[in-house]
Amino acid sequence: MEKLHVLGTGNAMVTRCYNTCFALQNDQGLLLVDAGGGNGILRQMEDAGLSFADVHDFFITHAHPDHLGGAVWVLRKVMTMMRAGQFDGDLHIYCHKTVRKGLEAIADLMLQKKFVKLIGERVLFHDIEDGMTARLCGRDVTFFDIGSTKLLQFGFTTTLESGARLTCLGDEPYNPDCRRYVEGTDWLLCEAFCLNAHADRFKPYEKHHSTALDAARLAAELGVAHLVLWHTEDKHLAQRKALYTAEAREAYGGDVYVPDDLDVIELGA
Ligand SMILES: [Zn+2]
Repeated sequence: MEKLHVLGTGNAMVTRCYNTCFALQNDQGLLLVDAGGGNGILRQMEDAGLSFADVHDFFITHAHPDHLGGAVWVLRKVMTMMRAGQFDGDLHIYCHKTVRKGLEAIADLMLQKKFVKLIGERVLFHDIEDGMTARLCGRDVTFFDIGSTKLLQFGFTTTLESGARLTCLGDEPYNPDCRRYVEGTDWLLCEAFCLNAHADRFKPYEKHHSTALDAARLAAELGVAHLVLWHTEDKHLAQRKALYTAEAREAYGGDVYVPDDLDVIELGA
């Protein structure tokens, strides 16, 4: 069965867990989605028991530092493995043009020429656009513009081997313009910045984020079977699973997952 390896669960400024990013695993390998903010992606992959040798498809949702910052470390790692004969084939990176240009500039600035020359040879960028479908790890993945008012960002939807549909909304609240991609999805990966009960303290709406209760109402309205909540604050990590799950249950009768870093979720139907 396909698995979702949760590599990080925090929002941009967390220090007690890693920034939200994950890997979808099937028998074709790993689809890495975002890379968190830095070198911690190397530790998270190691602690998850995953190898970059199995990452041939990498999707970056947007250019904020808690998603793109780790990407230069993914390049550094994969390029080192390529040069050492430890990485078969190519690395395909899917992102929109601005993210691609930014990452190319960062790589040019920070990485040695022997690494940078692999871009275009074995590290291959694919510019994505709204509604575009591509084949990643043997499955069709459709990217969509999440309608961010802050910075252009993409989510995606895909059908798993079980026939279940999985949709990632990135790190911002649902925009009704995306309804056709999200409605009726079996698995919804959704941000929840904090509890509704703590909204006065964390001010999610000022930061264009939402609460566990908001996400639960959305999942109920759109007929979602399994709801995964992450991209949270890190002041309640020990109780987060219990607190966020309880709040989500107030509005939603489906399965609620509030993973910790390195949790593995089996993606059934
Ligand atoms: Zn973020």
